[in-house]
Amino acid sequence: MNFLPLIEAKREGKILATEQIQEFIREFTAGKIPDYQMSAMLMAIYFRGLNTAETTALTLAMRDSGHVLKFPKDRRPVVDKHSTGGIGDKVSLPLAPLLACLGFRVPMISGRGLGITGGTLDKLDSIPGFKTLLPAPQIIRQVQRVGCVICGQTKHMVPADKKKYALRDASGTVPSIPLITSSILSKKLAESLDALILDVKFGTAAFMQTKADARKLAKAMVALGNECGTNTRAILTDMNTPLGRAAGNWLEVKESIECLEGGGPVDLLELVLDSAAHLLVQTEKAKSLVAARKHAADCLKSGAPRAKWDEMIVAQGADLKAFNRKLTLDSTAKVTAEVVAERSGFVTKCDARIIGEVIRDLGGGRFTKESAINYDVGVDRIAKPGEPVEKSGVLCRIHAMDYEQAKLAEARLKTAFEISPKHPAKTPLVIGIISR
Ligand code: URA
Repeated sequence: MNFLPLIEAKREGKILATEQIQEFIREFTAGKIPDYQMSAMLMAIYFRGLNTAETTALTLAMRDSGHVLKFPKDRRPVVDKHSTGGIGDKVSLPLAPLLACLGFRVPMISGRGLGITGGTLDKLDSIPGFKTLLPAPQIIRQVQRVGCVICGQTKHMVPADKKKYALRDASGTVPSIPLITSSILSKKLAESLDALILDVKFGTAAFMQTKADARKLAKAMVALGNECGTNTRAILTDMNTPLGRAAGNWLEVKESIECLEGGGPVDLLELVLDSAAHLLVQTEKAKSLVAARKHAADCLKSGAPRAKWDEMIVAQGADLKAFNRKLTLDSTAKVTAEVVAERSGFVTKCDARIIGEVIRDLGGGRFTKESAINYDVGVDRIAKPGEPVEKSGVLCRIHAMDYEQAKLAEARLKTAFEISPKHPAKTPLVIGIISR
């Protein structure tokens, strides 16, 4: 194809036809458009934007650039959740088996972490024997039989996004709403979903720092998801403070099991139940959010999702005995150290960004896509805003690979917390719902 006239048209702010977008994505995926021309197109889109029809065409063309999961007809709706990412965000882990027990099919295709943001696949890699790379027929078989799978994208799914994202990364064109929304949704739509709940986070450790930017992104994703035929909703949630009391790969798996066993932190439980409740309403399995939340809470209390978790990880190769043994350990890191309060009062701040940076530097996160990571390091027993602490009381506990690293982390983590004699005003975790 002659791609140059399309680049020039977008540069001048003209609208591209659906067929033109479909053709250039097809040609790009086949390696017939050079990177320098695609980078120019991405920059033109960055400045000129795409209208609704163009964004929809781009998303669907990217979805169709590779394998799309096809499930047999079944009473159980196919659903998933996507989070824009944050520190301690382990919601997917308890949510997938809960949804399976609520009568859904859940093909949860997840990603790895980069920078300070953790990735679901990295957390799961800390489970002995667990496999995250499954071929498409196995994903479908497991979803049909167990009800849920959490695994990585196969190399045949949405190849256009993989190639395009690498160019965006290298050409300064990542922060563009139509490019972000089409990238995220093309991958989710390749799961052939009936309904999708999005957790769009704002705050110091989020992709979007402000509430206004997060709302803008959430509205664009909800509109696009629905335009593409998938019932899509979003919740806007706070990521100034880590979610739960633990962050770091294995520590987050442990905390997810606590949640499945009826314990664990209340903020994690709130997001797990909220996500499940929205999907119940979106698929008309519940009449109201209140009734749906109660249904999800009762299901969790029944213990069935905890058993479903074991069924899911065994289906994906986990060594259940080794996993259960690992769960009994207080720490799998070489060293633990407490960060303690210098005065008594109320925690008024617990900065998720600082905690994320410290965990990344302890080895728990990646600087580049190729970096190896350490599954055992992290931070737990995190004191959250609004909670009282005594002088010398624990603000958090570090899991590190050596004493020097733990000492360095301790000094930095002290700066993440603020303590005041006055109880801070309560800040809600979920600040809004965006539905169509
Ligand atoms: N995550 C994605 O998958 N794509 C983007 O463009 C941004 C975040």
